[in-house]
Amino acid sequence: MTQQDYQALAELLFPSVDKTPQYYEELYPERGLKEGARVTRFAPSPTGYLHIGGLFGALVDVLTAKVSGGVSYLRIEDTDKKREIEDGVSAITNGMRAFGVEFDEGVTGFGTEKGAYGPYTQSSRVEIYQTVAKSLVERGLAYPCFCTADELSALREKQEADGAAITGYFGKYAKCRDLSFNEIKANIESGKSWVLRFRSDGSEEKRITFEDMIRGRIEMPENIIDEVLLKSDGVPTYHFAHVCDDHFMRTTHVIRGEEWISSVPKHIALFKACGFRVPKYAHTPQVMKFDDETSDKRKLSKRKDPEAAVSYFVVEGFPKESLIEYLLTLISSGFEDWRRANPGVPATDYPFNLKKMSSSGCLFDLVKLTDVSKNVISAMKADDVAGRVTQWAKEYSPDFYNLIEKNPGYLRDALNIDRENPKPRKDISKWSEVPAYLEYFYDEIYTPCFTLPQNIAPADAKAVLDEYIKVFDVNDDKDTWFSKIKGLCEPLGFTPNVKEYKANPDAFKGHVGDVSTVIRIAVTSRSQTPDLWSVMKVLGTDKVRSRLESAAAFYGKE
Ligand code: GLU
Repeated sequence: MTQQDYQALAELLFPSVDKTPQYYEELYPERGLKEGARVTRFAPSPTGYLHIGGLFGALVDVLTAKVSGGVSYLRIEDTDKKREIEDGVSAITNGMRAFGVEFDEGVTGFGTEKGAYGPYTQSSRVEIYQTVAKSLVERGLAYPCFCTADELSALREKQEADGAAITGYFGKYAKCRDLSFNEIKANIESGKSWVLRFRSDGSEEKRITFEDMIRGRIEMPENIIDEVLLKSDGVPTYHFAHVCDDHFMRTTHVIRGEEWISSVPKHIALFKACGFRVPKYAHTPQVMKFDDETSDKRKLSKRKDPEAAVSYFVVEGFPKESLIEYLLTLISSGFEDWRRANPGVPATDYPFNLKKMSSSGCLFDLVKLTDVSKNVISAMKADDVAGRVTQWAKEYSPDFYNLIEKNPGYLRDALNIDRENPKPRKDISKWSEVPAYLEYFYDEIYTPCFTLPQNIAPADAKAVLDEYIKVFDVNDDKDTWFSKIKGLCEPLGFTPNVKEYKANPDAFKGHVGDVSTVIRIAVTSRSQTPDLWSVMKVLGTDKVRSRLESAAAFYGKE
């Protein structure tokens, strides 16, 4: 075909496209950021839910931009309408928001966005893709292909029968590559449907190399496939949309899942054909776990693992700081050292570096997350914890919410026990544990259970409680409180001195710890609790008295 034919072909294929790529170059100018600033994007498809790997990737995008003084944005890749679900976009933006992952630009919710490089939803960008496509046709770099699905599968079968090293639409197999202008025109006039293909100039002998920011230098065969750019409905494939969008949105660093590595040669060829600068690539590892049954490492799966969905962590009530803190330990080997040197600093201030990311699959471990979260929660102020528990309960535990919202001060005091000190307790890892954790503070949900340890006889427990009822006072200071408990020991055959007990166990019924245990079980039904003196103060005289009496009565009947 001559240059004139290409020109005529472009008009024939895209009669309504009246812009040029130059128009978009001016509409979306270079961003003018400072030297070294990185522009990153998170580009999910709205197919139903936000995978934990998505949050992980988004965090890498946001931190990479932030550390370099650049820009991160959220783009919705919705060109595959078959896979899309109705509130897919909200699932993504809500999931991000719940964990405080905020982009500078892009889609902010269903039908809303911010930033000057939009629209940030691919289905609203068809005109841009078609403009670039038209210019490729004008330059002889793309052509329409009329092959039917049957023809394409026949082609594949033939290639397989020939023992071809590479299968696909290329070279001598690319039937439509060399159609004349008149043949194409006739096909179009007869109403045949077509896709637009890239005219690859790659060669089977050549290899290309590129520098992956995480994996280092990668060498692969050059692309030779005449890839589909626009499908028969004029909508672009992922490959073509990626190239156009990341160019016009001025992305400098394409950070995406490792499943895309094999497509890089194709993408580099397309960037070059379009006359666009090739961005830097970073392919992140997959989020894996050890399979409970086989102990093998495998990808987190939506079907088998509830924790694959970001919404799981919202429903369970993991604070956003915990999940982000944990993801950072997975993402970057230097994070834990940094954290030790910078306690109390928000995790998102970490000087993140793509090059320090591991390239092998990162293992998601709920047990480790639980530990991280216990630390994070232990460092929170009581007011903060109470506020978050209340928020969580309002949404996910209405009965508990009805109980706690009646008396916010009481909730706060209960949560303040053994908190806001240099060695806070680390009991809580997520808000859904709190109703059970605080059960004995609320008669409405408390079921007494006065079972004693083996070494304490019910009659002795009753004697301890009968005496304690006479002397306890929730207003006592801690020393007085403890000396009253010690004071119960000797008259009842226990010793206040643990060492003395250990030296001569047969001489005593037990020691002061056993006496405290009796009181603790009577008041809380548990043998382990946060500081009992504080617990009693929060519960107040009436609750404590009635519980001591019930327990004493219970042991009296045994
Ligand atoms: N929409 C693609 C996906 O969800 C995005 C890949 C990319 O980030 O370029 O896998």
